[in-house]
Amino acid sequence: MSTRNSKLRKSIDIAIVGGGVIGLSIARALAHPGVSEIVLCDKGELGKEASWAAGGIIGPQVEADCADDFFKLACASRDLYPEFAQALHEETGTDVELDTTGTLYVAFTEDEEAELRQRYEWQWDAGFRIEWLNAKDVRSLEPDISNQVRCALRFPDDWQVENRKLVDALIASSRKFGVKLLPNCEITSLCCDHNRVVGVNTANGIISASAVVLCAGAWTSSITTPAAASAHVQVEPGRGQMLCFKPAQPIARHVMYSKRGYLVPRRDGRLLAGSTSEHVGFDKRVTDEGVSSIKSMAFEIAPGLRGTPQVDSWAGFRPRALDELPVIGPDEEIEGLFYATGHFRNGILLAPVTAEIVGNVILDEVSPTVLQTFLPNRFSAIHTLS
Ligand SMILES: Cc1cc2nc3c(=O)[nH]c(=O)nc-3n(C[C@H](O)[C@H](O)[C@H](O)COP(=O)(O)OP(=O)(O)OC[C@H]3O[C@@H](n4cnc5c(N)ncnc54)[C@H](O)[C@@H]3O)c2cc1C
Repeated sequence: MSTRNSKLRKSIDIAIVGGGVIGLSIARALAHPGVSEIVLCDKGELGKEASWAAGGIIGPQVEADCADDFFKLACASRDLYPEFAQALHEETGTDVELDTTGTLYVAFTEDEEAELRQRYEWQWDAGFRIEWLNAKDVRSLEPDISNQVRCALRFPDDWQVENRKLVDALIASSRKFGVKLLPNCEITSLCCDHNRVVGVNTANGIISASAVVLCAGAWTSSITTPAAASAHVQVEPGRGQMLCFKPAQPIARHVMYSKRGYLVPRRDGRLLAGSTSEHVGFDKRVTDEGVSSIKSMAFEIAPGLRGTPQVDSWAGFRPRALDELPVIGPDEEIEGLFYATGHFRNGILLAPVTAEIVGNVILDEVSPTVLQTFLPNRFSAIHTLS
């Protein structure tokens, strides 16, 4: 963490709306250097929405086909993880189970093999760690993998974290550093005086604050912002279903992807399988179709999973902005309003870098020009045209 030196900024009070991994990481980053009053409100239990439903994959490289701004942001966040996990361990005693075994992407068809070949070539040329494995190599690393696998890529620097433990650690750390955590406290709208934030409205009255960070995940658009706000951020829920197996013996060491989904082996012997990507609003049901498509993906990668008991299933809402990119930074028109939302399929991965950026922007007033691609006002033009 950088040293802060602005007395004025340290005395500001901040309301954070949303207690998922994004809101909690920001609260911790702001509380660390000693901002006097930070309140974090969640409409329900802390950390029990997308951040709890996720697979915990920290994988910027595995699906990347070019080094665009999103890739750079994702790699920067991945690179922060070892220090982030270590610091949380020291602060709270919770091990978030950062697992650096690596990630495999397996190919079953000629087309899939060609896709992997392209990914291998650009990432190798760009200097990223990546390994090409033939079928025999794959089976020596993962003996339970299907004998239909033609080849695979191995990404030694794409990892996983136990996201539920991460949420627990972030709650404990935020509390330890003095953040006031308010579960069951729904924010309905922002309070503004002219074009300046002065607080947030709850069913029980106003919480005053001179800065507000909106990190309400898939619900961000339901919080009323002033008409003058430049951002016009629209975030929708993208439902993802997950299954959890408990094999008698471990079936995978690596996180394993195919074109149709992924398997995530947990330290306690559970094996997660995901996921679906659906636009069905806020419907959290696990469906027969979802279960059947995830199972067929999982059995294709590891046929030995057939007959293994499925011990759990759940669904969550990925926060999806119109362009599927995160929305991070200040509103241009409303002073004191900041966004950190729209992390879609990568909010666990992006939590450390998002917290660092928002912390810097709020406390040090660093110019956010570096974040151009992710700034909330990129949607103003779309709004004006429509
Ligand atoms: C099935 C699935 C698998 C995933 N796998 C991965 C993965 O492997 N790796 C990865 O990086 N990402 C993954 N993701 C995405 C990741 O989970 C999300 O991007 C991330 O959790 C978003 O965090 P968040 O804090 O923005 O949202 P959330 O965790 O949803 O938190 C938002 C919080 O805001 C609260 N809130 C909403 N409205 C209000 C209000 N009006 N007032 C107060 N509080 C409010 C909610 O109650 C909620 O707790 C996955 C997601 C799903 C669904």
